[in-house]
Amino acid sequence: MRSLPSLYDSHLSAEELDFLQQVTAFAQREVAPHAEEWEKAEELPRAIFQAAGRIGLLGVTVPKNLGGRGLGYVAYSLAIRELSRHQAALAIDIAAHNALGTGHILNFGSAAQHARVFPRLADGTWLAAWALTEPSAGSDSGGVETAGVQQPDGSWVLNGFKRYITLGRIADVVVVMAATGTTEKGRKEISAFLVDRAQIQPVRKVPTCGLKASETSEFNLVNASAELLGPRGSGQQGALACLDKGRIGVAAVSLGLADAALAAATRHALSRQQFGKRLADFQTIQFMLADSEVDIRAAELLMLQAAVLATRGGRHSMESSVAKLHASEAASRVCNRALQIHGGYGYTRDIPIERYWRDARLSEIGEGSSEVQRMVISRGLLAGSK
Ligand SMILES: Cc1cc2nc3c(=O)[nH]c(=O)nc-3n(C[C@H](O)[C@H](O)[C@H](O)COP(=O)(O)OP(=O)(O)OC[C@H]3O[C@@H](n4cnc5c(N)ncnc54)[C@H](O)[C@@H]3O)c2cc1C
Repeated sequence: MRSLPSLYDSHLSAEELDFLQQVTAFAQREVAPHAEEWEKAEELPRAIFQAAGRIGLLGVTVPKNLGGRGLGYVAYSLAIRELSRHQAALAIDIAAHNALGTGHILNFGSAAQHARVFPRLADGTWLAAWALTEPSAGSDSGGVETAGVQQPDGSWVLNGFKRYITLGRIADVVVVMAATGTTEKGRKEISAFLVDRAQIQPVRKVPTCGLKASETSEFNLVNASAELLGPRGSGQQGALACLDKGRIGVAAVSLGLADAALAAATRHALSRQQFGKRLADFQTIQFMLADSEVDIRAAELLMLQAAVLATRGGRHSMESSVAKLHASEAASRVCNRALQIHGGYGYTRDIPIERYWRDARLSEIGEGSSEVQRMVISRGLLAGSK
């Protein structure tokens, strides 16, 4: 596998390079040896999040004064990519914690709320989940039916059901999107809330096709006490801003899986012989490897473009959607080709190729499906051409 971050050394600070070296060592020493065991158990030990927190992986972009690493999104995306090469389920959990749960609190939380959750959210003591999706709200984030009602004393109470929430049952705090009224334009007013774990009623871990060790859950909110996070009615806009960062993380997870699949396919093509030749000597196989390399390099540059813009601040919705769309579909293609190159061996569970292939599929759905990314990109394009 190509070493990281050789291509980008000159664009990274000494501190970022040091962080990435720590992430590589952590992934090789503490993640890779357990990847299959966690996949079989369909669970990640809490201790691995604490260990990740010790090197700053749970607060990569959180400012140092709040206990985070205070780094940019280039380092963040390369770190998530590196983790995903070994265990995509852990990478997606850590990405969701950083960009969505922690990101929303960082962007919209008051000083008092920050003081309550940091540094614990940045050092691995606590995990944060982010709950938008429910039966009526998927691609259409405006369909939220979880209701937030303000009490006479000014406090808020939530009632509803959330599904497919990463870290949902195990997070210490959850950012919950809820409907709090109707806007002047007659649309649903959606607000974000900070909810403690004690207020969540877990329903179940949802069985998934891939990323099995990731915690994808359903939970109920029954008269749950909640604190408004940011101004009332800012939930949907705030959610979309977090997804702009989140989608860079999904691109990174996709890239890590594609890296692992291509490295395995290359090794196999060089070692397996058929018809008296190595698979690597057949042009059909060579072209599959070449197409995968092109897919990965293009995805890498698009991810880094979005990451640079995210670090600078300002709008980057279009770039994040382009990166996520290309990287997720590229990863599926690369994993599919890698499985094909391995033949029957690739379809067995004796090697992790089938895991990469299953894990990669989520990236085309989560944090906005490929169709939603195409909507964001075409809207941006058409609006810019008016
Ligand atoms: C493993 C996993 C983890 C997740 N983690 C989280 C999380 O942490 N927090 C959270 O809030 N959510 C989470 N989700 C939910 C995820 O973001 C949604 O599944 C995703 O946004 C799609 O919504 P949906 O499943 O309701 O599909 P739907 O919205 O029902 O879409 C079904 C299909 O219709 C297409 N479609 C929908 N509308 C249109 C349209 N207008 N034009 C064309 N096609 C359209 C979609 O692209 C898709 O192909 C997770 C999901 C999974 C599977």
